Amino acid sequence: DPILNLRDLRKGYNAGKPNEVRVLQGIDLTVQAGEVVALVAPSGAGKSTLLHIAGLLDTPDTGTVAIRGQDMSALNDRKRTAIRRNDVGFIYQFHHLLPEFSALENIVLPQLANGATDAAARDRAMHLLDTVGIAPRATHRPAALSGGEQQRVAFCRALANDPVLLLADEPTGNLDPVTSDRVFAALMALVRQTGLAAVIATHNLDLAARMDRAVRLVDGRLVDGAA
Ligand code: ADP
Ligand code: ADP
Repeated sequence: DPILNLRDLRKGYNAGKPNEVRVLQGIDLTVQAGEVVALVAPSGAGKSTLLHIAGLLDTPDTGTVAIRGQDMSALNDRKRTAIRRNDVGFIYQFHHLLPEFSALENIVLPQLANGATDAAARDRAMHLLDTVGIAPRATHRPAALSGGEQQRVAFCRALANDPVLLLADEPTGNLDPVTSDRVFAALMALVRQTGLAAVIATHNLDLAARMDRAVRLVDGRLVDGAA
């Protein structure tokens, strides 16, 4: 089975009202383990809606989300939440780190919520920080880190519970071009190391070209290629 399989997803807002918008109008996407797919879309096209549905943060009006061959609509909320926490990692454009906790603690907390011991969670957090080259910054709070460092902490947090699927919503979109490039390289190294399936939304066609393939969101559907 593929890691992620989306079939004929449809999603709109304000159905039947004058301000009705049809955002997703038949989305099909299959992502295999180890495959990194670039999602290219102009602002407002529905990229966040699509990623939130794929990441079980939102539900489609119709259509199927399957993770590792399992239809998510067949599960109750408790089981879906467990899959979201265990199997899916999410990275936002603005990292959403907890400001009052250190880099390390931001990566430890989701593991504790998932039943890990404190020692195991700290070991794993340090290992992840080391992989992206910022272990020396482990005890710093987000405000004391650069934008690129904060985003690397956010990658580590997304990978804290060893997900099979990584979803990223313009993870380098708020960084300057040089930092964006370095942070993207760190992200790809982590993804390649872990053999994750990943969908990474970006406006940057150079970054898209460095992924395995690209899909473009046009009029509520996906078409192959970045441009
Ligand atoms: P993108 O991430 O590509 O910028 P979004 O998925 O955030 O796009 O939004 C796609 C469209 O759906 C936009 O027109 C947006 O205004 C609309 N939209 C998103 N969320 C809602 C909502 N909760 N209620 C009404 N319209 C929404
Ligand atoms: P739980 O209650 O299981 O911890 P939450 O529903 O609070 O899970 O969400 C888990 C993560 O997803 C949190 O980081 C939260 O900020 C984020 N999240 C939840 N809903 C949305 C949403 N609609 N859009 C973006 N992020 C969301």
